[in-house]
Amino acid sequence: MNLDDHPTVRQLRASGRLGETASIAGPIDANELRKLALECGAHDVGLVEIGRTELDPQRDEILKNYPWTRTLLSFVVKMVREPVRGTPRSVSNLEFHRAGYETNEIAARIVSCLQDSGIRAVNPSMGFPMEMQNNPGAAIWIVSHKPVAVAAGLGRMGIHRNLIHPKFGNFVLLGTVLLDQDVSAVDQSIDYNPCLECNLCVAVCPVGAIKPDGAFNFQACFTHNYREFMGGFNDWVEQIADAKDAIDYRKRVNEPETASMWQSLTYGANYKSAYCLAVCPAGEDVIGPYLNDKAAHRREIVRPLQERPETIYVVAGTDADQVARRKWKNKTVKPVGNGMTPRTISGLLTFMPIVFQPEQSRGLDAVFHFTFTGADHRDATITIKDRKITVREGLIGKASIRVTADAKTWLGFLAKEKNIVWALATRKIRISGDPRLLLAFGKCFPSPEIKRKHVEVIPEASLIVPAIRPFEKNDALTGKARWYGALLLKDIEQVTPNVKTFRFVNPKGGDIPFTHVAGQYLTFDIAPHGIATRRSYTIASPPSWRDRIEITVKREQFGLVSRWLHDEVAVGDLMNIEAPGGMFVFSGREGPSVVLIGGGVGITPMMSIARYLTDTQWPGTIYLLTSFLPRRT
Ligand code: SF4
Repeated sequence: MNLDDHPTVRQLRASGRLGETASIAGPIDANELRKLALECGAHDVGLVEIGRTELDPQRDEILKNYPWTRTLLSFVVKMVREPVRGTPRSVSNLEFHRAGYETNEIAARIVSCLQDSGIRAVNPSMGFPMEMQNNPGAAIWIVSHKPVAVAAGLGRMGIHRNLIHPKFGNFVLLGTVLLDQDVSAVDQSIDYNPCLECNLCVAVCPVGAIKPDGAFNFQACFTHNYREFMGGFNDWVEQIADAKDAIDYRKRVNEPETASMWQSLTYGANYKSAYCLAVCPAGEDVIGPYLNDKAAHRREIVRPLQERPETIYVVAGTDADQVARRKWKNKTVKPVGNGMTPRTISGLLTFMPIVFQPEQSRGLDAVFHFTFTGADHRDATITIKDRKITVREGLIGKASIRVTADAKTWLGFLAKEKNIVWALATRKIRISGDPRLLLAFGKCFPSPEIKRKHVEVIPEASLIVPAIRPFEKNDALTGKARWYGALLLKDIEQVTPNVKTFRFVNPKGGDIPFTHVAGQYLTFDIAPHGIATRRSYTIASPPSWRDRIEITVKREQFGLVSRWLHDEVAVGDLMNIEAPGGMFVFSGREGPSVVLIGGGVGITPMMSIARYLTDTQWPGTIYLLTSFLPRRT
């Protein structure tokens, strides 16, 4: 079909809108744009031009994907503080997820409104999904929100490497919208850092990833806090693949860990700790209670997280491994992998400063020249000195040791797929210099063994008493749900040689926890001699006695329950009871007089009714006809 003949084109032509392109004359009004973002739900907004220096590290990637980008709109969404702070991490993660969804929703709303105004815009995700084909070894995000937010004046990075908003503190999530237009005014970074340098984030981090001097051990944080994200998931899959059978799998991954992974897969990946966010007191809205009582802040927020029993995930031989074992007696350290296996030399060189373990490099002062051969050819100089690393392209300065390696073999060796002895023997890897230096170098970059030692993890016991609640049936008489619970047997009265009255009270003290109408019964949910049984008895006491309830039971020669009640049950026993039930009632409202007829122990409902009517001074007439067997002599 000729495109001009297509119905859509025809309709557009007929409407006169064909050829109409939304053209925006000049820059967009920055205030209008901010107003739009706030109306869409953002709690604060800032604008940055694409040329800003702070965006240098990510500009090329942004423009590669969206070459038309001129301005970045950065915004924050507040999180609710208290859920983030408590020890139950399911509650914290719920808030992270909620605020995350909200952030993505707001970004989508902004983009939709801009589209309606003829402005081209996109909303890279707040977190996930990301570009997983780049994982590991290259950035998986389209936009790194934190630098954009800093440049847009929405806060500064705290020691814990999260953005601290001057008002909302670190209880924010970040979103970014890319626009194809210039704006009338952009924002600048705020001129102070709201971080208080209180070091509470340092004190609470389970893996020692945050250092007081601002250094950050990315690998430690990634391995533990992000255990149920892509790296830990990779490791989990490898453990499944490597396990010989179910028993072997359970030795590697215990039941709570499997359940936790299921939870993350089903409801969204959960952070293991994120304690640094929980304890941070910075920000105008947050700081007040901390300033008033720092000890209370430590006692109520910091200490419970430090004392929380939990499993800490580390790569064996790393700084985190050492810190966690030294610092926490109440936590179990478990060596794992983290999926950080670079597959290109470029990825490897990018990774090195990130996975470098400063404490493992103590005393090392050396220059390493690497020449990688093969398709992924590269020269690199790595200097390790004073527990710091620098990675530079090319062979620079005097080398302490030279390593020439086939790129594929070296990457395979790091992934534990290739054996170093074989590589040296086949000259796929060649060393010129002291081999002990290479060993010291390897120590700075510990990588996980695929085979793991079993680590016994004993989960913290819950204080919740598990109980299966019974179905709570409605009482046909009152239409209300029957009460179900335990009453305490307070007293047993021998009424005749084979009849006893059992008197029950509320075990917590106070009134009987249900009401009844005179004539109704209660039902025992019991197990005499281990036989689960339900048996109903009329309540002999009147509804007007609120502090106790009575039943009167005759011992039947072959009665399972009546014999048990008479012979086995003792004062102080708790008995499960459902009550009330029954339609055989008289409350005094049914007529001006009543005739009650009962024989033997069957008199119990009449007792309840007669007692109730006299207790309440019912003005009617009561006729009571009873008969009993004479006492045997
Ligand atoms: S906890 Fe203290 S040191 Fe850490 S980021 Fe917050 S204010 Fe800064």
